[in-house]
Amino acid sequence: MKTNYDVIVIGGGPGGSSIATLLQRKGWDVVLFEKAKFPRYHIGESLVPGCVPILQELGVFKEMDEREMQRKYGITFVWGEDSTPWHVRWDETPSEITKNYTFQVNRSDFDSLLLKNAKRNGVEVHESTPVVSFIKEGNAYKGVTIKHNSEKIDVYAKIVIDASGQTALIGNLEKTFEIDEQLKNQAVWSYFENAGREDGENEGNIIIESSEIGWLWYIPFSNNVTSVGWVAGKNQFDNRDLSTQYFDRLEQSSLVKKLLSDSKNIDKVHTMRDWSYSSSNFYGNGYVLLGDAAGFVDPLFSTGVFLAMNGATLGAKCIDKALRNEEDKEKYLQLYEQGYKSFLKKVTDFVHFFYDASLQKDKYFGKADTLVNPFVEMTHRQEFIYLISGLAGINTFEKEVGIENE
Ligand SMILES: Cc1cc2nc3c(=O)[nH]c(=O)nc-3n(C[C@H](O)[C@H](O)[C@H](O)COP(=O)(O)OP(=O)(O)OC[C@H]3O[C@@H](n4cnc5c(N)ncnc54)[C@H](O)[C@@H]3O)c2cc1C
Repeated sequence: MKTNYDVIVIGGGPGGSSIATLLQRKGWDVVLFEKAKFPRYHIGESLVPGCVPILQELGVFKEMDEREMQRKYGITFVWGEDSTPWHVRWDETPSEITKNYTFQVNRSDFDSLLLKNAKRNGVEVHESTPVVSFIKEGNAYKGVTIKHNSEKIDVYAKIVIDASGQTALIGNLEKTFEIDEQLKNQAVWSYFENAGREDGENEGNIIIESSEIGWLWYIPFSNNVTSVGWVAGKNQFDNRDLSTQYFDRLEQSSLVKKLLSDSKNIDKVHTMRDWSYSSSNFYGNGYVLLGDAAGFVDPLFSTGVFLAMNGATLGAKCIDKALRNEEDKEKYLQLYEQGYKSFLKKVTDFVHFFYDASLQKDKYFGKADTLVNPFVEMTHRQEFIYLISGLAGINTFEKEVGIENE
């Protein structure tokens, strides 16, 4: 292994593998260190349509289609003043921006596909190779120390990209995280075989159902397996074991309970802290933060993978320019931070608002209108879909920061 590269990427999740691929394609010498051996399990299984153009750019969309991953044409909500289920479809937005469908994915397959694609594009990928510390000169990040076959090796680069997910190596080291006090949640989930599907094209929808305590997700996969999760405030759990509380919640639900009636639980009950947070800065001297390592927002609208991959496309452009123009480096990294934070903030604001599950639908649509500024005329309902599909992030991200014109 060499010990000097242009770019070091830490983490082979969707954020890390996407930015590594894009920077390698721009001619940089990129190495990616991933602590796990892929395929590895990960939560975060429902993709928004904003991911589609990025998957196309990366060159993996066709393969995903051919693998017959579950197509997701919209969302079913059991949410708001009226408990009758309601649906939104991606193709309700004007045809200029429509992405008809996206996918529900098994993350070990999806992440492996993206990492394999990074290798295919020339990225040097090392799995089972954790970054264990950083090489710093003063406050400048110069490289990382990795553990490779039980040997510690120092590796240097012009820039280190931290895409280590919620491990958030640099953010934790620099203590730059701000926790969102309103979204200190916990998630509990498991998997079911033979669970029901909605009718027609709604069969691939994610279902988001509000509950007396928190809310539930229902994510159908193409192999007759369904992921069912419960998210609630950390103070809303009682002293009983989590799995008892989880199955109680499912029992109290409406549409989710109905669809689970003939199913079989096939996995253990998983749990994870689900606190939303953001780093105060998304870059520093010699480093850039990406994906969950930069910020994380509650999974209510399934935006995590999109934020990481969209951040990767903007990050690749800004870092490429920063590396080519030493004197303007700061300017380009600032553009990255500004662009990334802008959409993250919109999603976070909307999640805060939507957590009040007692409102009329029109109130949610009206709030979306205050957050997005589409380039074509839309109704408030369309703006709501445009926002939660992530497409509002793609179109504004780079326009807002003006990177296209640089
Ligand atoms: C309960 C829950 C449900 C969610 N549901 C959804 C959903 O439905 N849809 C959605 O889009 N998002 C969802 N998310 C969010 C989603 O999981 C993340 O936003 C997404 O995985 C972020 O991608 P990433 O590339 O930033 O990080 P990750 O996917 O976490 O990848 C980080 C990688 O870094 C590696 N790593 C860590 N430490 C080191 C180290 N020291 N050295 C080397 N490598 C290291 C890890 O092994 C990992 O492979 C959910 C999150 C939670 C908590």
